[in-house]
Amino acid sequence: MLPITKLPTASLRERSRELTREELLSPEIQELIAMMVPTMYAAEGIGLAAPQVGRNIRLFTIGKDAVPGKAKNLVFVNAVWTKNTRKTLNDHEGCLSVPKQFGKVKRYADIHVEAWDEQGNPVSFDAKDFFARVIQHEVDHLNGTLFVDKATDFYESD
Ligand code: ZN
Repeated sequence: MLPITKLPTASLRERSRELTREELLSPEIQELIAMMVPTMYAAEGIGLAAPQVGRNIRLFTIGKDAVPGKAKNLVFVNAVWTKNTRKTLNDHEGCLSVPKQFGKVKRYADIHVEAWDEQGNPVSFDAKDFFARVIQHEVDHLNGTLFVDKATDFYESD
């Protein structure tokens, strides 16, 4: 397992850089990915971004439970999204880097995503509702933004 970086660690507030395909396919980054997935599940997270394990690179994983119809873990590299509609949903979020804090965050309900998979293959798809929410949360991490910057109705819970 990898240790999870928590606030107020300054690197969580940095913009992470893109990966080249060569870097992505390197043993170092492939090993990082192989460690991030079990770390995410062990921490009971729905997603985990590389800056949360101390690496400021544009890479995150999403657990299979968050992905409709998908039976595998998903790895996204250099992901960018655009909104398909202006509709937003306001719902509860938490974050492994901000333990025990929760709040409601407004996110776009329907987005288009362009990224690479863990092998550097381009992927392009639409994501809705909860899946779209998780992607927006993770891309925020890559830009040094945390859900607490956007949330209202804060509360604490275990
Ligand atoms: Zn988070």
